[in-house]
Amino acid sequence: MKILEERILKDGKALDNNILKVDSFLNHQVDPKLMKDIGYEFANYFKNKNITKVVTIESSGIAPALMVADILNVPLVILKKQTSKTLNNNVYTTAVTSFTKGITYNLTVSKDYILSSDNVLIIDDFLANGEAASGALRLLEMGKATCTGIGIVIEKSFQPGIEKLKKLGIDVYSLARIKKLEKDTIVFE
Ligand code: 5GP
Repeated sequence: MKILEERILKDGKALDNNILKVDSFLNHQVDPKLMKDIGYEFANYFKNKNITKVVTIESSGIAPALMVADILNVPLVILKKQTSKTLNNNVYTTAVTSFTKGITYNLTVSKDYILSSDNVLIIDDFLANGEAASGALRLLEMGKATCTGIGIVIEKSFQPGIEKLKKLGIDVYSLARIKKLEKDTIVFE
């Protein structure tokens, strides 16, 4: 997606060989117009797949995922990173290791929102090692829901996540695919 690549080159910052900082338009301050364009791009790609729900992981996936859900006219379900007091035992939980923080957290969702009749589109901001996406897939499996596809805003193709998901036969659509990061250098596929 050209406007996204241009924005990454303009405002993104490669901190090192592994981490891209996009705090000014995606992860901290959010550009709603860009999120809407991203929403239309994903919605157009997955429009004929009978998606019944969009699922994302808090917190940075929420902005693009909400736009997609709105356009596809389906609910958005946010996977929580820890058990909240307002969630009860009626939850599915799985452990996930965070790429950026290096810690392990519990990814949790109420059983009420993942149904065996659901065709789910997973949306997330980044794909690195595929831990977050794999955790989301495990939660969908627990609810016997179907994963119809995964939409990623920024894929770092040189990290193992994309191959992992492709091996599972999942349709992964990434809007920007980075093949190399170096301090202050960003190279797209
Ligand atoms: P994975 O689970 O695929 O290893 O990592 C994906 C998650 O880690 C994303 O949801 C995102 O929050 C975070 N992440 C991974 N790589 C980056 C990165 O280069 N920059 C930022 N800002 N977040 C990242």
